[in-house]
Amino acid sequence: MSVKENLEGIRTRITEACQRVGRDEKNIKIIAVTKYVSSDTAKEAFEAGICNLGENRDDGLLAKWEVLGDRAVWHFIGSLQTKKVKNVIDKVNYIHSLDRLSLAKEIQKRSTNKVKCFIQVNVTGEESKHGINPSELSRFVEELGEYPMVEVVGLMTMAPFTDDKDVIRKCFRDLRILSKNVQAMKLPFAPCAELSMGMSNDFEIAIEEGATFIRIGSSLVGNEQK
Ligand SMILES: *Cc1c(COP(=O)(O)O)cnc(C)c1O
Repeated sequence: MSVKENLEGIRTRITEACQRVGRDEKNIKIIAVTKYVSSDTAKEAFEAGICNLGENRDDGLLAKWEVLGDRAVWHFIGSLQTKKVKNVIDKVNYIHSLDRLSLAKEIQKRSTNKVKCFIQVNVTGEESKHGINPSELSRFVEELGEYPMVEVVGLMTMAPFTDDKDVIRKCFRDLRILSKNVQAMKLPFAPCAELSMGMSNDFEIAIEEGATFIRIGSSLVGNEQK
């Protein structure tokens, strides 16, 4: 199937998920995660109408950026090594993986503009996962006030790898509650209105629980590395 056909199917499922909970699909943006596909396929996604593209490595991002440049909106979605920040900082529009002060400090040092960041939260506390522990979130947000180039637009999480839909739903629901807590802090640099959650296998649950950005790779653009 082409990206275009995949997109039609995904849009239908987004519409249905929105209808179930009375949301407007205009408030949900699809990020095409292109980490497993070529620049050509990324271009195909862009031409099919997806302007938000996501990558989890600096080299992948730079390769696709060469082709599409600033016509696309670029999302860095994977764990970001501090030393890689300088390679991507003037190309990315959003960073979804802010999970430590040293990264905020490097963003502050390297960027000439405000950078829209999502704080990655490890909602379920799995050891294998990156992200801030929920109990440390409000303090982390406060400390980000030291770095004016960092704007906290929202929170991001990855659900546990499980078939148990209730576990996934609870994770997304908890992230939403955490984002409300941050909003209630009323910090000018942390509006925290966006929720980056939901991937190929769980985006409908994420939408039902309030996602505003869903990050879809395999079911949209495929996996050319398989
Ligand atoms: C790979 C990846 C995705 C997309 O995963 P799919 O299951 O292929 O949709 C989303 N978010 C992050 C952080 C990823 O690394």
